[in-house]
Amino acid sequence: MTKQHIETLAVSHGFEIDKTGASNPPLYLSNAYKFQDAKHAEELFALKAEGYIYTRLNNPTNTVLEERINALEGGAGTLATASGHAAEFMTICALAEAGDEIVSSNALYGGTHNMFAHTLRRLGIKVKFANVADPLDFENLITDKTKAIFAESISNPGCEIPDFEAISAVAKKHKVPFIVDNTCMTPYLFRPKDFGADIVINSTTKFLSGQAAAMGGTATDCGTFDWNSGRFESFCQPDPSYHGIIWAKDFPQNAFILKLRAQVLRDVGACQSPFNAYLTLQGLQTLHVRMDRHLENTAKLVEYLKNNPKISWIKYPSIEGNPFRKTAEKYFKKGFGSVFSFGLKGGFEAGKKLIENAKLCLHATNLGDVRTIITHPASTTHSQLSAEEKIKTGVTDDLIRISVGIENIDDIIADLEQAAL
Ligand code: PLP
Repeated sequence: MTKQHIETLAVSHGFEIDKTGASNPPLYLSNAYKFQDAKHAEELFALKAEGYIYTRLNNPTNTVLEERINALEGGAGTLATASGHAAEFMTICALAEAGDEIVSSNALYGGTHNMFAHTLRRLGIKVKFANVADPLDFENLITDKTKAIFAESISNPGCEIPDFEAISAVAKKHKVPFIVDNTCMTPYLFRPKDFGADIVINSTTKFLSGQAAAMGGTATDCGTFDWNSGRFESFCQPDPSYHGIIWAKDFPQNAFILKLRAQVLRDVGACQSPFNAYLTLQGLQTLHVRMDRHLENTAKLVEYLKNNPKISWIKYPSIEGNPFRKTAEKYFKKGFGSVFSFGLKGGFEAGKKLIENAKLCLHATNLGDVRTIITHPASTTHSQLSAEEKIKTGVTDDLIRISVGIENIDDIIADLEQAAL
């Protein structure tokens, strides 16, 4: 069979129809799996045989989702987790410990920023934030304690885009893995591995499932990083919590993803519910069709907003003068995603009016849904922040974030118009 295209992989990869003839991957709601005999059980626990042990570690429905997303991202192995945040947190846990450092882009989803700036710091892992637009800034923050570089492929909601090849060159020079959170692009629009990422994170809660019915996340090991590079003792020494396994020596092709599953997921426990994996697989089958419509609607909405006298600014890479336009055009050949922000000339009151009067556009905090979602952070999620803090986080009083859905674009525009525009 020739190498399949991404649309075909999204529909069917990772599942072979069994003797029942059922065309959909079955939902296995079973926590336990009968071992064939004592030797089989021993081999499973020693990672010498493939099979199922206990659903916190693996599950046949989750396996289909893992293999499908792994194929979409071009990885060497993928792990499904309870949420996107769980994938990020466990990935860091697999790489770093107290005393270590991470260099992260400063253009991040607020929840990730919070985890990095506060929770990781409480655990003794220091995250240093670099200017997303300046690869040299990333390099300058690297020390001998650095264990990874982290960036979003396109940031939520600022649409800032790192120069992947330049940052990957920095990561390679200093022998640290480059982690890319691909949530807002999805592998249909952009494959981070092709531009130097070593580990790819997705929140499947968003576009990959598309229907806002199931939380989930994935971490994909691209199989590109050499864990023997000198910085990763925990990959090169016998692991006392796992029969003395040496992850980098015993599993050179996919050391990271095996360590993530067998050690970190085992201990942290943030596994994905097989029911959520089942639902996510249903959504994933239509990823490419939905993404094309998300992009088509976004292009029309941006054009409408550009010509609207009530709008003062739009942060989207296609806009003339946007500082990330060139980078976007270099890396994102199909389009720039469908999550962006814009400002209303009427400021705080106009923003509040828009979200209160919208009927079709959903006033909620999610993105990547088939429904159009709008938020006004200044009167909701960020209302407790001081004026100074709002400026620092980029949340101005006039900012509206929109995740453009797949409804008819005329209805989306009509709703925004009747609400305030
Ligand atoms: N990464 C990005 C870019 C996000 O926007 C989000 C959530 O909004 C996450 C990660 C976290 O994903 P989850 O909500 O599935 O934990």
